[in-house]
Amino acid sequence: MAARDEPAKRATRIVATIARNAEKPGALAALLEAGVDVVRLNGAHCAAGDISRLVALVRRVSRSRRSPTGVLLDLGGPKIRVGELPGGPFSLVNGQAVELYPGALPPAAPGGAARLAVTYPALLRDIEPGAEIRLDDGRIRLRVQRRVRRALFATVETGGRVRGGAGVNFPNSALSAPALTAKDRRDLAEGLESGVDFVGLSFVRSPAHVAHLRRLLARVAPERRPWIVSKIERKEALAALDELAAVSEVLMVARGDLGVEIGLANVPRAQREILAAGRRYGVPVIVATQMLESMIEDPTPTRAEVSDVAGAVHDGADAVMLSGETAVGAWPVEAVRTMAEIAREAELPDAGFVRADVSRPPAGDFAAVVAHTAAGMARDARAAAMVVYTESGRTARLVSKNPLSIPVLAFTSREPVRQKLTLLRDVTSFRVPEARSVEALIRAGDAVLSRLPGLAGAVVVEISGAAKAEGATNTLRVRRLPR
Ligand code: PEP
Repeated sequence: MAARDEPAKRATRIVATIARNAEKPGALAALLEAGVDVVRLNGAHCAAGDISRLVALVRRVSRSRRSPTGVLLDLGGPKIRVGELPGGPFSLVNGQAVELYPGALPPAAPGGAARLAVTYPALLRDIEPGAEIRLDDGRIRLRVQRRVRRALFATVETGGRVRGGAGVNFPNSALSAPALTAKDRRDLAEGLESGVDFVGLSFVRSPAHVAHLRRLLARVAPERRPWIVSKIERKEALAALDELAAVSEVLMVARGDLGVEIGLANVPRAQREILAAGRRYGVPVIVATQMLESMIEDPTPTRAEVSDVAGAVHDGADAVMLSGETAVGAWPVEAVRTMAEIAREAELPDAGFVRADVSRPPAGDFAAVVAHTAAGMARDARAAAMVVYTESGRTARLVSKNPLSIPVLAFTSREPVRQKLTLLRDVTSFRVPEARSVEALIRAGDAVLSRLPGLAGAVVVEISGAAKAEGATNTLRVRRLPR
């Protein structure tokens, strides 16, 4: 983990999910020390008060380390689950008949078919005969035979043991569930009050869902307004990938639900498609789920997991994510250290991978044009670093999408902006005092640069704006820092 005054030694960012375990004395500090850049709170597992307590803890520990940490509140979204099973878990066998009820189970007739309640009020409206139903991370497969007044009748195609609370997916049905549940809205209110930096939108299906969330974020002051992370985990989201990338600040390859929705064998291709969309739209991409899954129990990962993390880095992931490994696993710190080490190794030039270039920016988007040109200028001038003055963080985001092999040093007067920059590949941020003019801002930045090791007399490429305002980026220059 880079010290606060040095450019990061690892370009790829690490997002780690935390839960109440992180409240044990020293636990969160140890995770951050091991290399976590962004902490993720999984709304699906947060009770009222958890979010504000955990965010306050992250801020406290980050302050004492004098290094910013991003906080991602990942809203649970309309995740559909098996309801409570009155008799506890039971096994379903191939060919068996199952009745599925929306909401709660009605009283049972003796000796009838197996029955499951499903937490989806529109079950009977949205799911038609012939539809596939997957239970428990896709392990169990049912096929709907017919719809009656109060239930769906299905048969078991792949059996297994079913438990209350198991996830339910409908891979080939169009769902009408709203993007946000009542609990999401409560979690969001708590998250905004606590000052989270990113909000994850689960099961997003269309840009309208993102627009809806954006309207709810509008009441937050622009510099504190979280970036939206669109989690790509539904077929509809893959089909609308370009539209979603165009309206989101971040994309996530949410491989858990995605694997159930599109089939596991299709996930690697989808991952690459999502990474490519990130490059087209200047949007960072987080690759998530089961990256070091075996480390929930074991202190070392499998070879396949190591390869998966390195592959994500080679494919251009901006960040890689840990879920259960750090939230409930037995080896959270080891998992972070392992991920950091794999990423560092995968980034070495002798690993032989060249990151794909980003798309040509839209002509009228000056920040994007300058960011794109800056990368070429840095290569040609053999610059030692890219220096970015960023008001909202957007320019730093666009710069970091370019295939660079030098650090991006981002300067901002706003701590909430620094917290967002923690997700960006290659970027190390520095706080400079509020300044009246761009010149004063650059003077403050130069004072910081003069203190950084190895930069005296070095060539830097610098991006700034004509005015000290959001969206004003238009200036690019190359210069040699004083010796
Ligand atoms: C996923 O499904 O891969 C994911 C990241 O979402 P969650 O962990 O909320 O299920």
